Amino acid sequence: MIIGLIEHDRGKLNELSLQMLALGHRLAGQLNIPVHAILIGAEARPLVDRLPAYGVSATHLVRHDRLTDYAPEAWAQSVVEIIATLKPWGVMAAGTDRGNEVMAHVAARMSLPLAANCIEAQPFDYAQDKPGDPLLVTRLRWGGSLLEDARLSGAVKLLTVAPHVVQAEEAPAAAPLVVNEVTPALTEKDFRARVTRRVKSDEGKVSLAEAKVVVGGGRGVGSAEGFKVLEELAELLGGAVGCSRAVTSLGWRPHTDQIGQTGTRIAPDLYIACGISGAIQHMVGAKGAKRILAINTDPEAPIVTHADYAVIGDLHEVVLAVCAEIMKLNTKVRSRNE
Ligand code: FAD
Repeated sequence: MIIGLIEHDRGKLNELSLQMLALGHRLAGQLNIPVHAILIGAEARPLVDRLPAYGVSATHLVRHDRLTDYAPEAWAQSVVEIIATLKPWGVMAAGTDRGNEVMAHVAARMSLPLAANCIEAQPFDYAQDKPGDPLLVTRLRWGGSLLEDARLSGAVKLLTVAPHVVQAEEAPAAAPLVVNEVTPALTEKDFRARVTRRVKSDEGKVSLAEAKVVVGGGRGVGSAEGFKVLEELAELLGGAVGCSRAVTSLGWRPHTDQIGQTGTRIAPDLYIACGISGAIQHMVGAKGAKRILAINTDPEAPIVTHADYAVIGDLHEVVLAVCAEIMKLNTKVRSRNE
């Protein structure tokens, strides 16, 4: 079997896990083996019912009174215990911060190699996978600027799936539902790193990672106050505001707003990049955007070559003009409906 570690936060599913399951299901089909899932923490129980639609035939629900919140080593130890009992062909997780962190602990505890951020995985021999055969993987390296073909060996294949490169897909027929409860033997040491406090972000605001529209600002915005107009545009479009690292380094916005290799990876329908040059480390985080509109004074800026649309001009004038047009349209629609 292949086991997918499903990521969630107090029962809220991280949809990237469904993308991971799509790759897992494809691979399991080639190997003719089933797909199982691991859910950690009692609050994950309601998610069990969603998984059969994605080809999961059995879910291992890890119960422990200290697993309400994320604790990387405790999650890893739970996975290690399940691997020791079930001896799966492979274990996969989404290539998120948490997915990569947990799988790195699993790999270290079991002295197994881990291939992180895979975009493709194929059995070495389709006809007959033999013990010791490697798995052929393609994975993102150097922040996504390089694709690496590699052979992953190890008695249990451990990999994570890069976000937004595989579409989540429902399986043609839902698998029957089997739930197996597991209580791992965790020690105090497994909880050295754990969530101890939760601070709510601005309530009601769309999160950067999930927003359908993102308005990003770079050094070209000029100041923290300059972001006001970007916030206005994001609000009019029901989106979220993001920024480049230059902006967080200057202290204009918090790191939680940063898009890129060392920030959040976004996947909106539209990314409006204002005063951002489009450095490779920034574009890694914006790769999942379906459409990019660049607003920049420099027609030669790299972002312009990545963009589907570009407006060459001062962002302060352009964004204000766009906001004014949207407000005009909204007023027209409102008066038509009255
Ligand atoms: P600049 O490169 O200075 O670009 C400013 C742009 O604004 C220019 O294109 C300019 O033409 C335009 N402009 C100026 N005035 C105006 C105006 N009035 N109207 C319109 N346009 C205007 N960067 C990230 O963003 N995210 C990351 O996660 C990240 N991780 C990194 C990790 C590493 C290891 C390293 C080395 C770098 C990383 N960086 C990251 C930094 C990255 O290399 C760039 O330095 C950064 O993205 C540049 O930010 P910027 O585009 O806002 O600034």
